Amino acid sequence: MSRFFDNPYDEYNESIHGTETTTIVNKDLVVQLVKDFTATILTETKKSNYKLRDDLYVGEAGIAFMFWKLSRSREFKHLFPCLEHASSYIQRAYEISESKPSEDSSSIAAFLCGKSGINAVSAVISHDLGNHDESRRLIADFLKGHVICNDNCKADEMLVGRAGYLSGAYWLNQSLPTKPIKNEVIQDVCQTIIKRGRGYSRARRYPLPLMYAYHESDYLGAAHGLCAILHMLLESPWFMKIGCEFNNISVTKLNDIKASVEHFLLIQDADGNFPTKYYNSNKKLIHWCHGCAGVIYLLAKAYLIFNEDKYLEAARKCADLIWGQGLLRKGPGICHGVAGNGYAFLLMFRLTRENKYLYRAAKFMEFLTTDTFKNGARKPDRPYSLYEGLAGTVCFLVDLLQPSVAHFPFMDVFDVKYNEI
Ligand SMILES: [Zn+2]
Repeated sequence: MSRFFDNPYDEYNESIHGTETTTIVNKDLVVQLVKDFTATILTETKKSNYKLRDDLYVGEAGIAFMFWKLSRSREFKHLFPCLEHASSYIQRAYEISESKPSEDSSSIAAFLCGKSGINAVSAVISHDLGNHDESRRLIADFLKGHVICNDNCKADEMLVGRAGYLSGAYWLNQSLPTKPIKNEVIQDVCQTIIKRGRGYSRARRYPLPLMYAYHESDYLGAAHGLCAILHMLLESPWFMKIGCEFNNISVTKLNDIKASVEHFLLIQDADGNFPTKYYNSNKKLIHWCHGCAGVIYLLAKAYLIFNEDKYLEAARKCADLIWGQGLLRKGPGICHGVAGNGYAFLLMFRLTRENKYLYRAAKFMEFLTTDTFKNGARKPDRPYSLYEGLAGTVCFLVDLLQPSVAHFPFMDVFDVKYNEI
């Protein structure tokens, strides 16, 4: 059986579908879906057979993040006691975390699947509740991960590695007015990432300057692989522009990062996709975690930083493939599901302001309501979670009604996320 449902929708046509956001996106349907999904999450996560976990990826912290996102949305913040719900889910995340047997110290730095993610989201929720001392204490806890990133963190990817830690640092700077994570901390982690990538690439003779492995596999996708690691490097203060020049990056670092980013253009296939691993990849997936729906963020960021059309063209090819083959049977989530692929269109809409991308995102939302999807999609293992389940879907729906600020959780490419000197 195919991994995806056939796309039943026509291409965008201005004269049929209109040019206003309000005609392209069915707002009433989005609001109803958010209400329904949120009610389901609140009910199901209280049941005795609900599988508890603490982290952002598929645990309570991820649901806390969703309620926090609702609390910052003009459309939804008055529909629920959002921050109170966020606070109780993050509290439950800590209770689960503290009841676990003592973990490897690298968990302190792990973001999507570890402690630094819980601390970051908790710090922002505390800030928004007016508990500023508590927020500062949690940021101090988040910063304990910096030391681990320098020393004994074994991974560089997004779920438990340094790129994930950086994505948390950037998100804290985006979400809090004080931008609490200093440029020196960000650059320090980036420096370690560069050093490790050069070392691994040289030792294994890869034809690009930076390469990494996770559990001995040279992944390329956003969850475990190279594209998100490079994306997080491009977000750093190294790329702060002073006049026409980057301020704070050596020529050798710039060349190594840029050559590694450009390598993605060489390995993009004719359809627009990428292998899951550099060598021995036996499949091509169209997910955020593996394949073009994750690589598209790197291409968009590279386009914004280097201002070269080749990156935009490559991103357009990703988006066209996602439109054709992105209605995944795996479920509604953002890691490997319909909402995650829908997010790629919201990215392209912000990047190009072309209505066809907003239309495509809206159609992916509508597909969630069809009998084809409801009867034919698989139920994820963690059906209410941020990355596999409905909490992530709700984030996508919230962003569909605020497309000018929409971004995949912790993968924004537009804001400046460091302190501008
Ligand atoms: Zn996935």
